[in-house]
Amino acid sequence: MSPAPPVASRDRLRIAIQKSGRLAEPARALLASCGLSWRESRDRLFCYGETLPVDLLLVRDDDIPGLIADGVCDLGVVGRNVLLEQDGDRRGAGKPAAFRELRALGFGGCRLMVAVPDGWSWDGPAQLAGKRIATSYPALTAQWLARNGVDAQVVLLSGSVEIAPKLGQADVVCDLVSSGATLAANQLKPVETLLQSEAVLAGPVGEFDDVRGELADLLLRRLDGALRIKHSKLLMFQASRELLPSLLPLLPDAEAPTVMRIDGEDGLALQALCHGAVTWQRLEDLKRAGARGLMVLPVEGMLA
Ligand code: ATP
Ligand code: ZN
Repeated sequence: MSPAPPVASRDRLRIAIQKSGRLAEPARALLASCGLSWRESRDRLFCYGETLPVDLLLVRDDDIPGLIADGVCDLGVVGRNVLLEQDGDRRGAGKPAAFRELRALGFGGCRLMVAVPDGWSWDGPAQLAGKRIATSYPALTAQWLARNGVDAQVVLLSGSVEIAPKLGQADVVCDLVSSGATLAANQLKPVETLLQSEAVLAGPVGEFDDVRGELADLLLRRLDGALRIKHSKLLMFQASRELLPSLLPLLPDAEAPTVMRIDGEDGLALQALCHGAVTWQRLEDLKRAGARGLMVLPVEGMLA
């Protein structure tokens, strides 16, 4: 294949996301939480950005790295597993890197794992020497085998990898695992983790040299804010000044709290952004330590 063509200049940013599947809805929801909204085309493959010049292209997840490499899209939301597999594939073919991970997005979590038949006792990768490994991730599997100095045969399957041992196509599998239920249903057990994956925002290796650079920076700043507050809550309460030293240790996950004096009283009002779970238990602990008027508020947006 010839090298990627030079990226045509554009005055709108184009983001590829999965059309349907595990990453489709969370990707849209995350981008919407960054203040983006779209008008959908009739064929539902393209969404025209309304609040900002940021459009969506709805595609199969496997196509996303290639669309970035070819400059058809500027950014994409895709599993790290797909991104690294295709990067490994390009490197194997002597092509230069053409995309990279810009941010981990905190959803679509799974692991790429080697799984062996339930009956096997496992004592390490060397056990795979001369065996057949069924996988949809040949580059990542080959890299891992090479790292471990194991000579095994990689059998490429595009789907239903987990039934390959039963069908006699392979001895073991290397596949994505989240709960492990699919493996268990096929009498397989996971033994080695090759990759910890989640959905990521991917982009080209170079920088944009037109207005897309500013749009991408704006989006990344909003994304960082959105990711930071995803599980955060604003906690507010009042307390007597002398109780502060016993209350602050109960807020280990809070950013430096804002402490305000209440006019004409000895009390203080506190406001703290907590990044961990604010449970009932925690509120009760704070109350016991002297906090009054405890209030927990959702955080809608944040710009550091
Ligand atoms: P498409 O039609 O877009 O090609 P697909 O069938 O390849 O869809 P999905 O099954 O929706 O894709 O998976 C998309 C991504 O979700 C995977 O690449 C992976 O990053 C992530 N994922 C999270 N958990 C799992 C899991 N248990 N099995 C497979 N993928 C998972
Ligand atoms: Zn796919």
